[in-house]
Amino acid sequence: MKRALIVHGGCDEGFLPQKEMELRTQGVRKAFEIGLDVLQGSDSALDAVESVIVTLEDDPHFDAGISGSFSNMIGEIEMDASIMDSNEAAGAVIRIKNFAHPISVARKVMEEIPHIILSGKGAEIFARLMGFRETSPDEQHANTDNREMEKLPENYREFVKKYSKLLAEQRLFSTVGAVAVDSKGRIVAGTSTGGIAHAFPGRVGDTPIIGAGTFASISAGASATGLGEGILRVGVTRKLVELIEGGQAVQKACDRVIEICSKRGSPCGVIALDDEGNAGISHNGFFMPTMYSRFD
Ligand code: ASP
Repeated sequence: MKRALIVHGGCDEGFLPQKEMELRTQGVRKAFEIGLDVLQGSDSALDAVESVIVTLEDDPHFDAGISGSFSNMIGEIEMDASIMDSNEAAGAVIRIKNFAHPISVARKVMEEIPHIILSGKGAEIFARLMGFRETSPDEQHANTDNREMEKLPENYREFVKKYSKLLAEQRLFSTVGAVAVDSKGRIVAGTSTGGIAHAFPGRVGDTPIIGAGTFASISAGASATGLGEGILRVGVTRKLVELIEGGQAVQKACDRVIEICSKRGSPCGVIALDDEGNAGISHNGFFMPTMYSRFD
């Protein structure tokens, strides 16, 4: 059976300087190469996806992990991640803080307890129990370009106006994701994010929601990026996988979900693999770095 790996480093809707595009492309390539080594060595789709995403979480050019995640409107970093296996096992964390690799905590949720999603304090307690090291705030180097609203507004109406405008202006999506198929036909998909800049504290996007940011079945796996509110409405990755299960070629299925998002004016990018390792990549943005390989 063919093995395959596909990786994305987010989908930006707005114009990005050349240098930034190069750094993001290099980051995706590095993570992809590490994932490829793992897939070739261990032949585990799960290990491959985790290793790719851990590498991207450590790269400050992506909105994931503590080094690159956007902070919310009160200057905090709240991270989300999810992972799903074609055997229907899934794990996710929501609004976890101070842990370098939310994807690894999500994997432990999938493997160690009979829940699928843990959020906030509970996710952090679980991470500690699993032996993950907490980082101190001064080890964090998050994107700080969005900290002008460091306190919550007092006037609710004014706040809603300002917040809606900020949300509508979101153009930079550098959430990360990967999908792998191993020689046993196991398909694993994963996604990790720091959410969107300026988000209201506690906002949950698509990334940790199974069927929105991440989905896998015995037929296909997918990871999404873009404005979480739009991806949630459509249930993008579940819809994509269902289209493939219904007989659509993987690229056509990717194009179809992006068409659905575009009709709603919703920025989105997707990657997917079917059970033979065929890939689909589609987005309605300006730039989406991806890498893909299929091999024996
Ligand atoms: N989808 C992510 C979210 O809405 C953002 C991104 O893709 O960069 O939280």
